[in-house]
Amino acid sequence: MGINLKLKRKLAQAYNSPSQKARVLTEGWLKNEAYCPNCGNEYLEKYPNNTPVADFFCENCSEDFELKSKSIGFGKKVLDGEYESMLDRLADAHNPNLFLLSYDLSSYQVSDFLVIPKQFFIPEIIEKRSPLSTTARRAGWTGCNILLDRIPETGKIFLIKDKQIKPKEDVCAVWQKTLFLREERKIQSRGWILDVMRCIELIRKKEFTLADIYKFENMLAIQHPDNRHIKDKIRQQLQILRNRNYIQFTGKGEYRII
Ligand SMILES: [Zn+2]
Repeated sequence: MGINLKLKRKLAQAYNSPSQKARVLTEGWLKNEAYCPNCGNEYLEKYPNNTPVADFFCENCSEDFELKSKSIGFGKKVLDGEYESMLDRLADAHNPNLFLLSYDLSSYQVSDFLVIPKQFFIPEIIEKRSPLSTTARRAGWTGCNILLDRIPETGKIFLIKDKQIKPKEDVCAVWQKTLFLREERKIQSRGWILDVMRCIELIRKKEFTLADIYKFENMLAIQHPDNRHIKDKIRQQLQILRNRNYIQFTGKGEYRII
């Protein structure tokens, strides 16, 4: 059975506030239509409301998912919760994967639905917002944004894009490709691998050379001001990516994305 893009308006009839309506509609849709990108299980279970860990889980493989939804597409940033607790959460193995859902209110249809696997969450993609002013009810409270443009494309897995449903096998295959990152317990080393993955994508070629990727040396130096051996670091990440079957070495200083 295929995925139905329609949000069930009936579900929200009993609610008045627009944010509650949106929550009920999108959670209801996810429970009925989404599947687990890790194991392919067709049913995701909902945690009781206000569970701090996550919103949904897969009974089959125990992956946790958080859902954020919006009536217009996500730009370069997604608003998230309190900054310090977000950073604490990243260090925790129980950090959930993040589903992002955007819907079109004129047709009550889901337009985009993607998942960011938890291994892509590193402190560099979390932006601290300005604390709330002293006159605010929660004065001093500091929120955060998730910087979507700092995440490699392989970390933004679309199940639905522009109302087009992606084949489930493709979604699950892309998901499997980067699970190795979870074994990298040190968040800092994971940051380096992710940055090099992003540089490879920015080259926009299936086959590339060491010279292509060295062009990003300055960019990486800005992102990692404490490191003076950027080229060594790049080559080290390429080795890791080769060992993990993410890229292939095809010749001296020549690579291919798998
Ligand atoms: Zn699962």
